[in-house]
Amino acid sequence: MQYNYLIVGSGLFGAVFAQQAAQKGKRVLVLERRNNIGGNIYTENIAGINVHKYGAHIFHTNDKAVWEYINQFADFNRFTNSPVANYKGEIYSLPFNMYTFNKMWGVVTPQEAADVIAKQRQEIKGEPRNLEEQAISLVGRDIFEKLIKGYTEKQWGRDCSELPAFIIRRLPVRYTYDNNYFNALYQGIPIGGYTKLIEKMLDGIEVRLGVDYLQNKSEYDNLADKIIYTGPIDEFFDYKLGTLEYRSVRFENEQLDIPNFQGNAAVNYTDRENPWTRIIEHKWFEFGKDEAGNDLPNTVISREYSSEWHPGDEPYYPVNDEKNSKLYARYKQEADKLGDVIFGGRLGTYSYYDMDVTVSKALIAAELELQNDL
Ligand code: FAD
Ligand code: UDP
Repeated sequence: MQYNYLIVGSGLFGAVFAQQAAQKGKRVLVLERRNNIGGNIYTENIAGINVHKYGAHIFHTNDKAVWEYINQFADFNRFTNSPVANYKGEIYSLPFNMYTFNKMWGVVTPQEAADVIAKQRQEIKGEPRNLEEQAISLVGRDIFEKLIKGYTEKQWGRDCSELPAFIIRRLPVRYTYDNNYFNALYQGIPIGGYTKLIEKMLDGIEVRLGVDYLQNKSEYDNLADKIIYTGPIDEFFDYKLGTLEYRSVRFENEQLDIPNFQGNAAVNYTDRENPWTRIIEHKWFEFGKDEAGNDLPNTVISREYSSEWHPGDEPYYPVNDEKNSKLYARYKQEADKLGDVIFGGRLGTYSYYDMDVTVSKALIAAELELQNDL
């Protein structure tokens, strides 16, 4: 065979696997159906600003091995994600912490905040059965009404009482004055953008852009001993068992001739009426400076709209409800029967992985696959 590995998709999973295999001297070919590498972490430089084209991406992890691995390919800055919530013009700090409680109720000490929340959570009896009950039980009704309900319903297109409780447990609740959105030891943005990072990983590896593997599957299968597939698993099987559902996202990008639009990288619009969920101002991921350290005179913003996914749309968030999880399990059974295809990444395994988990899964898959080699 011409190649040892044919890697379908140049996103983070595909790039890590390709890098590991090439490092072991394997012959690797990467196919990518978009016209650019990087999958959803792709950044494009517009007016000197690295624009996160598929949504804001902040690298954060507690896994030292992953952090050390990824730092081989880029220097990371010390960006700390601290989004701001805008509720009808009222500004609150996120995640939910003493600054939020102080603004909401005028409380100053952690005990005062805990007392207000304890009182408000009394309306919830027993174990929270859905996101609404979970949110009220964590932070009380006032915060639920102003900072959670509208945002969540826009993001998921469903009522908070119909959504699983675990979604809101992703967010920290802190009784300290600390606006860091993530509980992570390591956090940052690769200086120069994510695309450069992926380019470095794929350095010296053959990549073909604008090529859809599934359009000429048997021809490509004949090129390599093994396939690493990071596209949607149901599409691989031509949807023969049915279609897996996703939430999709649409971005409206605008370049403005002003230096500062909103004063922060991310502002969440938490009311129900405003149609977008959040606005990203990309320059603040790199502190408003260009690579030489000069202040940038312009800015680029992206309004983010959440939408129901339809076949043909870009898939973003898997809907891991019971119906879709069951369907995925059936596709996985089919996948496990194929000895020469490894399914990986967020679409190949229908899982919401943060970037650090994606890297970790790819490193493990590569290690398992390459362990018998010299
Ligand atoms: P992808 O990036 O989707 O790559 C798959 C690639 O395969 C794509 O380029 C696709 O074009 C290609 N492909 C598919 N089918 C074919 C085919 N038939 N032929 C050829 N090519 C094909 N994680 C964080 O850690 N921090 C964040 O702040 C964060 N923010 C996020 C925000 C949003 C809006 C979303 C949706 C995700 C976010 N994530 C974040 C998660 C992060 O995006 C993923 O962990 C990561 O991008 C997954 O990489 P992947 O390679 O599995 O998938
Ligand atoms: N959320 C919210 N208000 C906010 C931010 C988040 O209610 O201002 C909720 C929302 O339901 C979201 C969940 O918290 O789905 C998890 O937030 P996170 O930022 O982790 O979502 P992501 O976009 O990364 O999936």
